[in-house]
Formats: sequence, structure tokens, C-alpha cells
Amino acid sequence: MTTEHSGDRKLALVIGGSRGIGRAVSLRLARSGFDIWLNYRSAREAAESARDEIEACGAACELLPFDVADREAVKAALADKADQTPPHALVFNAGIARDNLMVWMTAQEWDEVLDTNLNGFFHVTQTVLFPMLREKRGRIVAISSTSGQIGQAGQVNYSASKAGLIGAVKALAREVGKKNVLANVVAPGVIETDMTRDLPTDRILPLIPQNRLGQAEDVAAVVAFLCAEPSLYVHGQVIGVNGGLAM
Ligand code: NDP
Repeated sequence: MTTEHSGDRKLALVIGGSRGIGRAVSLRLARSGFDIWLNYRSAREAAESARDEIEACGAACELLPFDVADREAVKAALADKADQTPPHALVFNAGIARDNLMVWMTAQEWDEVLDTNLNGFFHVTQTVLFPMLREKRGRIVAISSTSGQIGQAGQVNYSASKAGLIGAVKALAREVGKKNVLANVVAPGVIETDMTRDLPTDRILPLIPQNRLGQAEDVAAVVAFLCAEPSLYVHGQVIGVNGGLAM
């Protein structure tokens, strides 16, 4: 069942909210007084179980399946909805990795990652931005990565996409700050999710001063602060959530 968004709660659009970090963000925001529009691409069962958990928190949740890389699909799903009900917060969290050394990287591996991680940000953000500006309020948080800050061997495509998000959000922040739309980046380190399931933990832990991998909730706490804090003077920033992996 999809519950209706109720007027007294805020509304957050979480892109890639079915699993991992996006799911934790959706739940945290639901507990912070937001109703959720939860996007995912294909993991329907995961999205439905996220919706059940969100609704159990007393929030409304509507599932919006579309591929962020598909500009027409994004517009079809969001343009009219956002025009009628501008979200208070957009969390652009969808992301994929197709790791390979540059010498072996295929054009497809490059394109898929850039299309989802960076072009997807353009498609979604541009679609909801005008309604947010019209309301003169809004929070935009893009999920980048430590790889986008310091680079990671085997991830030239992924690092480029995540560094691109940082540049895009900083430029956007300069455009929209006066309209009370605040834009920031959260850059996670190594977080335990499906994406990092096969990483060699024993080789990574010595690089992390806090000596543990991050949890999705560690990221969600920072994202929720940026979305929910009523009086925020944090704008155009990149906030690392990495246990000290990059400083
Ligand atoms: P997961 O693979 O666990 O989840 C990814 C989420 O993004 C899913 O909800 C997935 O939906 C959605 N998604 C992927 N591609 C698309 C698409 N084309 N259109 C719409 N939704 C899509 O990833 P994590 O939770 O680990 O990562 C979340 C974000 O954090 C990503 O941007 C990632 O790059 C970033 N990050 C993660 C780190 C980590 O260590 N885990 C570290 C640094 C950054 P579906 O299941 O339906 O496909």
C-alpha cells in the first residue's frame, strides 16, 4: 500500500533508496519527520521491504522505480510530481561501480558509471530544482565517495564520476544559495553494503584510523543532519564520513 504524503510532514526524495546507504538514509529521514519518495532501479523486493519499514515509523512512502541514467524516464516519473509537490530534500545516492584498471577499462564500463553516477545527478536534480527554487527552500545532498576526493586505483571511471559530483554541487551551491536551497556533498569511505561485500577487509582496516568499516547508519546520520537541521549554515561543503581514511 502507498500512503499519501501528509501536509504537516516534510518530503524527501531519496534516489537509490532500496538498499544500503540509501535505505538507511530513507529510514533516518522518516524518523526525523519526513515522508519519503523512494526511488530504485530494479530491486523491487528490497524497495517494498524498505517501504514497510518506513511506514512502520509512521511516515508515508511512495516507491518510484526508474533508471536515473534514462533522462526521459526521470522526467516522466518526477517532473509533474515535483511541480505539484516540491520535495524539501533531495538525496542523490544512486551509484554503481564497474572496477577495472584503466588499460583494460571498456567504454561500456566508463559509460555505465558516468551515466548513472554523474549524468543521473543532472537528470534528477534539474527536474526537481525549479520547484525547489520556486518555494525558496530545499536541501540537496549528493553522495560522492572518498574515491572522488583522493582517487582509487582500479576506479578511474568511478573516481571521475564522484569527483564530478563534487564539482557539480559546489557550482550549484553558488547558483542557488540565495534562494535558500542548500547543496552539500557527503563522501563516504568504506561502508559495509552490497557494494563492498567482496573487498579485502584485512587489507583495508589498517588504513582506517578508527579501525572499523563504516555502517550505512553512519552516513545516514550526516545526511539527515544536512536535510533536517532547521537553521543550517553549511553550504557547498564536502563532508567525509570515512573513519579518518582521508583527511
Ligand atoms: P548499493 O549497491 O547497496 O545500493 C545502491 C542503490 O542505488 C540501490 O538502491 C540501487 O537500486 C540504486 N541504483 C543503482 N543504480 C541505479 C539507477 N541507475 N537508477 C536508480 N537507482 C539506482 O550501494 P551503497 O549503498 O553501497 O552505495 C550508495 C551510494 O554511496 C553510491 O552512490 C555509492 O557510490 C556511494 N558510496 C558507497 C560506498 C560504500 O563503501 N558502500 C563508499 C562511498 C560511496 P536497485 O537495487 O534497484 O538497483
